Amino acid sequence: MSETVERHEFGAEVGRLLDLVVHALYSDREIFLRELVANAADATDRRRFEALTNEALALPSDARVLIAPDKAARTLTISDSGIGMGKEDLAQNLGTIARSGTRAFSQALGEAKAGEGEDLRPSLIGQFGVGFYSAFMVADRVTVTSRRAGSDEAWTWASDGKGSYTLEPAAREQAGTDIVLHLKEDADEYLESYRLDHVVRKWADNIAVPIAIRDAEG
Ligand code: ADP
Ligand code: MG
Repeated sequence: MSETVERHEFGAEVGRLLDLVVHALYSDREIFLRELVANAADATDRRRFEALTNEALALPSDARVLIAPDKAARTLTISDSGIGMGKEDLAQNLGTIARSGTRAFSQALGEAKAGEGEDLRPSLIGQFGVGFYSAFMVADRVTVTSRRAGSDEAWTWASDGKGSYTLEPAAREQAGTDIVLHLKEDADEYLESYRLDHVVRKWADNIAVPIAIRDAEG
């Protein structure tokens, strides 16, 4: 590992959530795409909003969310031209549980587990959404390369979802974010454009930002 790579541990709550999503039921897995596309769209909206008062942040005219499977590399990449994240944003947003939705989810989860009888965890995942961490339902390694709009620094966050993540300097030509999922062996279906198209139509139909699915390579 080069000297510029920093390793950080996840907080206990993140560890618990990751453990849960990794063991989520197979049938719930496809919602990872809903979560990642929603994040990309949120980031795009945020940049559009900030650009109202700071022209330098204006979105490129072809701003869209791009979903790009690569069969040879067995990766699925979700890219946006949104607001992006700096180093501290990556550590804060992807390394801790800051948002209220995930808190509520964790809490509901604790209550569902404490109860007797039927396992309610799968339906809770559908109900609350587990956000970014749902990527680990289909990926055994996730890298996030991001450049904050208005900055020329880029950083890569990387994790196998097993307790820690790394941060290192990176390069990205323009502001925005690439989420690269290194797919698990049993998640090949997400390399197929028709499958991705189906999931996007089902879950991301109401997203205002254009979504493009690239034909699989390799
Ligand atoms: P939520 O979307 O409910 O806030 P998530 O777990 O989905 O929770 O994402 C956590 C945070 O990570 C987001 O609030 C956002 O700050 C940041 N984030 C995730 N994906 C992106 C992205 N593509 N671009 C910019 N920020 C992002
Ligand atoms: Mg989200």
